[in-house]
Amino acid sequence: MKFFIHTFGCQMNENDSEHIAGLLAASGYQQANTIEESDVVIVNTCAVRQKSEDKLYSLLGRLGTLKKTKNLTIGVAGCVAQLQRSNLFDKNPFIDFILGPDNYWQISRIISSCNTDKFIATHWHNEWKEIPHIQTLRENFTSAYVTIMEGCNNFCSFCIVPFTRGREKYRPMNHILNEIKSLAQQGYKEIQLLGQNVNSYKAPKTGKDFVSLLKEVDRIDSIQWIRFITSHPKNFTKEISAAMKDSEKVCRQLHLPVQSGSTSVLQRMKRGYSRVEYLQIIEILRDLMPDICLSTDIIVGFPGETDKDFQETISLLQTVRFTNLFSFRYSPRPYTAASRMKDSIPLETKKKRLIELQSIQKELQLKMNQSLIGQTMKVLCTGQSKKDPKIFSGRNEGYQVINFRSEKDVIGKFVKVRILSCGPYSLQGVVIQ
Ligand code: SF4
Repeated sequence: MKFFIHTFGCQMNENDSEHIAGLLAASGYQQANTIEESDVVIVNTCAVRQKSEDKLYSLLGRLGTLKKTKNLTIGVAGCVAQLQRSNLFDKNPFIDFILGPDNYWQISRIISSCNTDKFIATHWHNEWKEIPHIQTLRENFTSAYVTIMEGCNNFCSFCIVPFTRGREKYRPMNHILNEIKSLAQQGYKEIQLLGQNVNSYKAPKTGKDFVSLLKEVDRIDSIQWIRFITSHPKNFTKEISAAMKDSEKVCRQLHLPVQSGSTSVLQRMKRGYSRVEYLQIIEILRDLMPDICLSTDIIVGFPGETDKDFQETISLLQTVRFTNLFSFRYSPRPYTAASRMKDSIPLETKKKRLIELQSIQKELQLKMNQSLIGQTMKVLCTGQSKKDPKIFSGRNEGYQVINFRSEKDVIGKFVKVRILSCGPYSLQGVVIQ
């Protein structure tokens, strides 16, 4: 039997799909390259934005048509599955099972019994459920995701995550460290610690915090780069900045979602920090690590966002100079506090603001990238061009995309690359060693 997993959304979902794939492989299933050649298709969904939910419904339409001509088992997993549960069956009766994030470990049993018993995602659990890490089928053999916590207690007013992933639960520290040690033995060079709010990590039983975890991970031989995502400014302490600076392995790179540059919007978003407080964190980070690369998330058109609020967001972009930006138009999500506010910004204004924001960021990125031309940087190579086998791709410590020429195959290796040219979204160069 062959399976195919289509993943929408963030790194947490990608890592969940790797767990599901590993569990299926351990039960004798084989991974297929396409939907058409599989017997089981699982769609791992994202509910954070309406747009990704819309893409799910279009994919389900395609799968429903395919099922008329082929014996196919179809499952829906992830956040939309957890949120919609039986509604998904009602609207798409061809679906065979619906799996929430807390049910993945049961995947093989659910598939084998779904002819007689359609499974619907259960409510989330409060306790961590460990999936043996040796059963994770990873997409990448150089850089690995390692989940350290799940869920969120913050209830930002726009965000659906606390309703799909439940409250925060933390993975025991010894399980995290054992997984990373095993990855190091397998030759992984980089690990990315994952969670909705990694900075609030608290080890069950011992209560050890995120800084303690970082220090423990730092001691593991062979892992050379450590990253973590997602951080919340409210929980981003001076101690975390200091731990980053003191480590030679924690990359000089941080994704710190700001969401808006206006304090009044941040208050309505229930983010728990002001513009000034966000900028103070950036100042501390840059004092300690002047070369740190920062990226962020921004939502435009949040209910009540005035032109002045929006201009404050633009000025924050220009002040911080992020190396990467993930920006979105606000769309109300069910159950959230913001969905009960009047969605007061016309669609055209949201679109205009998003275009303006992205074009300013594009210019800033281009200028920052141009200043790197001529420099030599360490790059972890993770891919090779299909068209030209001498062109490789990877990321530098700042998590910027680098495409480069090398005469030798360097996949999975650290190389030194001299930057020769750039665009706003990537750098191009050549291996010098
Ligand atoms: S911190 Fe806010 S935005 Fe992030 S997952 Fe939690 S509720 Fe959502």
